[in-house]
Amino acid sequence: MHCPKQAYITVSERCIYDCRFCAVPKLKGGVKSLETIRQMVEKARMTGNLRAISLTSGVEISPEHEAQRVSQIVRDLSSFGVPIGVSVSPFPGVNQMLKSAGADEVKYNLETVDRGIFQQVCPGISFQEIWDALQEAVDIFGRNRVFSNVIVGLGESDRTLREGIDELAELGVLPVLRAAFPHPLRLGDVEIFGHLQRGY
Ligand code: SF4
Repeated sequence: MHCPKQAYITVSERCIYDCRFCAVPKLKGGVKSLETIRQMVEKARMTGNLRAISLTSGVEISPEHEAQRVSQIVRDLSSFGVPIGVSVSPFPGVNQMLKSAGADEVKYNLETVDRGIFQQVCPGISFQEIWDALQEAVDIFGRNRVFSNVIVGLGESDRTLREGIDELAELGVLPVLRAAFPHPLRLGDVEIFGHLQRGY
């Protein structure tokens, strides 16, 4: 309940990918069971302030496996009767899977709108696949029910950032801008460009 009126839960605290800015693969955390998640949401419900559930997840085995697990969790949590948002790594077919499970909103993170930087900082992940999933998600979930984190400060130019934000907004995707954060476990793995350094 650290987000106002939301039970915000990370399902798998580990990841097979190795995005250079991300601490999750280094932390190698646990994978929560359905039972644990249910108990957490129940605890949030007892505060009397639960208005929504957000599920986010790394990738324990594969994006498909992860989304299937999260879909089962969404089905189970639908009994709480509040909207459920899901953020997972996308792949073809993910939107239908989450929609039929009962998800109300989705978030697939592009992380950067600069394709060249994406290749460097998110090896093994397809920018185009995320973009395609976002585009399809707008048709399935509706405008303004689809989100994408965009990290600011990975070396992208102002113009690329502005154009990327515009393109997402025109699609009906809400870009969520986040300042790049130099995580201590990622020192030396990625260069972070602060606003002052870049002369904003
Ligand atoms: S896919 Fe997500 S959780 Fe996995 S390493 Fe990349 S940013 Fe981190």
